[in-house]
Amino acid sequence: MSEPVRIAVLPGDGIGPETTAEAVRVLQAVSGASLPLVFETAPVGGAGYDADGDPLPAHTLAVCERSAAILFGSVGAPRYDTLPRASRPEQGLLRLRKHFDLFANLRPAIVYPELAGASTLKPEVVAGLDILIVRELTSDIYFGQPRGVRVNEAGEREGFDTMRYTEGEIRRIAVTAFEAAAKRQRRVCSVDKANVLETTQFWRDVVTDVHKQFPAVELSHMYVDNAAMQLVRAPKQFDVIVTGNMFGDILSDEASMLTGSIGMLPSASLNAERFGLYEPIHGSAPDIAGKGVANPLATILSAAMLLRHSLDQQAAAARIEAAVRRVLAQGLRTADIAAPGARTVGTREMGDAVLAALATG
Ligand code: NAD
Repeated sequence: MSEPVRIAVLPGDGIGPETTAEAVRVLQAVSGASLPLVFETAPVGGAGYDADGDPLPAHTLAVCERSAAILFGSVGAPRYDTLPRASRPEQGLLRLRKHFDLFANLRPAIVYPELAGASTLKPEVVAGLDILIVRELTSDIYFGQPRGVRVNEAGEREGFDTMRYTEGEIRRIAVTAFEAAAKRQRRVCSVDKANVLETTQFWRDVVTDVHKQFPAVELSHMYVDNAAMQLVRAPKQFDVIVTGNMFGDILSDEASMLTGSIGMLPSASLNAERFGLYEPIHGSAPDIAGKGVANPLATILSAAMLLRHSLDQQAAAARIEAAVRRVLAQGLRTADIAAPGARTVGTREMGDAVLAALATG
């Protein structure tokens, strides 16, 4: 029997507890003698504030520190919107990212053939889409100093920010992208604006240098304006896209909407030790919280990413992803991915179906 592998489960607010409950059931189903998973649940976000007056209670951070990975639900609810900024639910997530130096944000955008009609793009453009956006999460113009608003020499007010990347920051995100691509179709497209911005010409040079360590992976470069266009014109040309924080912010949202289904998309935020926080890209959905109708598949697929990226359990991850595909092929739909008028299932029923597919798969 192997050593138990501890997973921190932070359900958070709104639909978070509903969807993480299903993801934990799925992880329990793949847990066994060769992969003994143990779970420790702790409050975060509004739930953390309610329990302890802090969106990231010290006890919750301690649970994360003694775990191999974090499964995160979602945070936020209207009743916390008037709290001082430091007490707001999203601070729990931001502080976790900072504390664990989670610099690599991985967002797959997958269009399952059965859901191609959910996209606003033509089904033939997106059917079978399977791309991975790797976004740098802790640097770039979002964090660069100096920044502010000042009065310039001409006596006019001006706003300014600083785009900045160190070589080390670029190297580590490039390595993450090449390693991810090596397990996929072995193609990385690095997105920059090297024709205009010095920082991103430097980005291109460093990524090109890191590429020498990964000869089996093909590297191409694309300007961000072209990438934004290509993502809606012919998204299937991409395998892995790697880019900086600001371009990644925009392109990852664009890519996720190619799929048309917010309830389906997982994400991972990793550090250099491959410790990671895994969460659906959707929020806490206060409009449907407590009704048992939320789609749990994004959180279940986040659990599969946790197995793949933090625990290196490729087979278990692939089993869960295959079970999700089978359930979709069987025609099960939560309301967010159903055609108008079609029969829908609730959160628990969808979880049950994935468990049944796992048991027979
Ligand atoms: P949202 O993602 O919560 O909801 C947007 C819409 O999508 C809603 O109509 C919702 O019902 C639907 N939806 C979302 N997830 C779904 C699912 N799994 N199944 C079915 N339908 C689903 O975004 P929002 O409404 O802009 O934000 C609500 C709250 O969530 C806010 O407090 C916001 O700050 C927070 N939020 C948190 C995170 C996070 O925890 N990482 C991310 C985004 C938003």
